[in-house]
Parts: sequence; C-alpha cells; structure tokens
Amino acid sequence: MNEIIALIDKLAKEHSLSAEEYEKLIEFRTPEAVKYIREKAVEARKEVYSNKVFIRGLIEISNICKNDCLYCGIRRSNKNCSRYRLNADEILECCKEGYALGFRTFVLQGGEDAYYDDDVLTDIISRIKTSFADCAVTLSLGERSRESYQRLFEAGADRYLLRHETANEEHYRRLHPDSMSFSERMECLKNLKEIGFQVGCGFMVGSPFQTTSDIARDLKFIEKFSPDMCGIGPFIPHKDTPFADQSAGSAELTCFLLSVIRLIKPNILLPATTALGSVNSDGREKGIQSGANVIMPNLSPHSVRKKYELYNNKLSDGDESAQNLMNLKQKMLNIGYEIVTDRGDIVK
Ligand code: SAM
Repeated sequence: MNEIIALIDKLAKEHSLSAEEYEKLIEFRTPEAVKYIREKAVEARKEVYSNKVFIRGLIEISNICKNDCLYCGIRRSNKNCSRYRLNADEILECCKEGYALGFRTFVLQGGEDAYYDDDVLTDIISRIKTSFADCAVTLSLGERSRESYQRLFEAGADRYLLRHETANEEHYRRLHPDSMSFSERMECLKNLKEIGFQVGCGFMVGSPFQTTSDIARDLKFIEKFSPDMCGIGPFIPHKDTPFADQSAGSAELTCFLLSVIRLIKPNILLPATTALGSVNSDGREKGIQSGANVIMPNLSPHSVRKKYELYNNKLSDGDESAQNLMNLKQKMLNIGYEIVTDRGDIVK
C-alpha cells in the first residue's frame, strides 16, 4: 500500500513513472490510493485552472465515414446507421445558438466524410472565425494529409483532436481494419503538432484486448508526446459492430486514469467525456472531481443527435445537451466548480 502511495507522490513530483511503475499503480490501486491520487490531481489542476471548468460546444457534423473501425457504431459497414451530414449554414446556425449560450469553443467532429474537402472545410472555418472572432475552432475529423491540415490551420482552426486509440501497434491492428495503420495515425499527430495546432490525443479505457501493459504504454506515449488535450473515456459496445458482445470499460478506471494524466501534465486540457457520462449517471462530476477540467455538451441539431451513435445508449439529451447548460452549471457549483465563458486555451 505504502508503495502505491509512494508512486503517486513520485508521479506528482516528477510527472513521470516507468511503464512498470504505471502497471503496478493500476494493478494494485486500492480505494485509499484512488482517493489519494484524486486529491493530488485536484490540487494540481487547481494550481493552474483554479476551480474553472471550460465548456466546448460539440457539433457532430457528419456520421458518414469511410473507415471501418471495429468498435465504432458509425463504421462504414453498419447498414443500420441512418446517415446525415450538416452543411455550412447548418453548422453556422449551431455556432450562433452556442455563442448565445456562452460557448467560446466549437468542436466540429465527424466521420471521415469526403464531402468535407479542404475547400468546404476552409470555408466553414473562416465563416465561423469571421462571425465569432473571439471563439476557438477545434476539429476532430480524423486522418488527413499534412497539406490538408496546413490549410485548415491557415483558415483559422486552432485545435485538433485525434485520439491515438492505443500506443501498442499490435493492439491497434486488432481494433482496426487492415486498411488503417498505426504509423499513419502517429504521423498525423506529429504533423498536427508541427503545424502549430493545439493537439489532443487519447484512447478508450477497456477497449477489447487492452491490457494494463497497453495502458502503461499509452501513459508513456502521453508523457513523450505532451499533448495539449487528452480525451479518454470508457469503451462502450455498439450492437451493430463486431464488438457488440464485448464488455464496457469501467468508469472507475477511467477516473483513476484522468487523475494519472493530470499528474503527468498539470496544465493539460482534460475532458470528462460523454462516454464517461453515458456509463455512469454522475460520470461527468466524478471526472471533474478526478482532475478533468473540460466538458463538451452537445450542440448538434436535435434532429441528428440520435444518429451520431458511436455506442449504445450514448447521451445527447439531458445534461449532455448544450441547451441545458444551466443545469450543468448548477451541478458543477454543487461540487465547487464554476463553468466559465472563455475560449479555454491551455495555460502554458
Ligand atoms: N473520425 C474521427 C477520428 O477518427 O478521430 C473523429 C470521430 S471518432 C467517432 C471519435 C472517437 O470516438 C474515436 O476516437 C473513438 O475513440 C471514440 N469511439 C468510437 N467508438 C466508440 C465506442 N464504441 N466506445 C467509446 N468510444 C468510442
């Protein structure tokens, strides 16, 4: 037990552990260790961000995807998925509504849909930046060429989220079809960083075949890559995927890892994800209490929300909805945190 507490103290001080130490920390965590690391993580984030929680308006622009990731409900092979895409005017309308609600970051997320070529996207980005000059634009649209990322950056996009999914190449191969490659994913992350985006990586907790050693590798990757943002959430099965019968990842381990990641990089932007809120009714609050400092309510048009179904029972209404921000604000106040109207850039 004392050994685990000593590891937490070491991580809080040095922001790094060996892969073996991470494995030990995860495998032998006790309720006392969980409580202790949470306190350390909350302390670390308070020093950088006080009690502020940043919000992002999440606009799910398309569920059309050329990829066939084995875990994902909007994978190409899912014939039961009713497909949609939003055009520039519809996206701008979401931003307008979000701006009035107090959002100062818009996240455009979607499948890899060829409709959004560089011309279409640069037009959308520059229209958002012209209409809402004090807002940040985050993109989460998968793998693209370096030239394409460069054009999106020059059009005004500020941030890019591209989860690495797993830092173990063999594990990557078991989660994706042969047409996708680990090295390309990693190359994209490197390009995004070199171009100047604030970059986010991340992974699913409890994805099929994931071992503790894989998670340790993810943590070592995060140490080395030093992303500005990191999205982690439990894997949740989707009934129309090859992983339909796999079990979901745990909210408890996700929260523990949020604390670990906060201690690796105290200034990181760390969301309490929709997946965490979907497996646990107070998942978002628990995530914030474990060291997360970002929440991404859903700002997509109501008519398409249910169609962006990455996994079974994905939340999109209730507190997950941007329109219910007042409720979320109150919930955060109840646990001592304040949702702010701010772009919410990383503090360097
Ligand atoms: N297409 C873009 C990409 O690949 O980065 C962005 C959209 S993708 C649907 C966003 C993230 O959803 C993925 O990076 C993945 O980690 C997560 N995701 C997909 N299926 C999931 C599932 N069944 N459970 C939990 N998270 C899932």
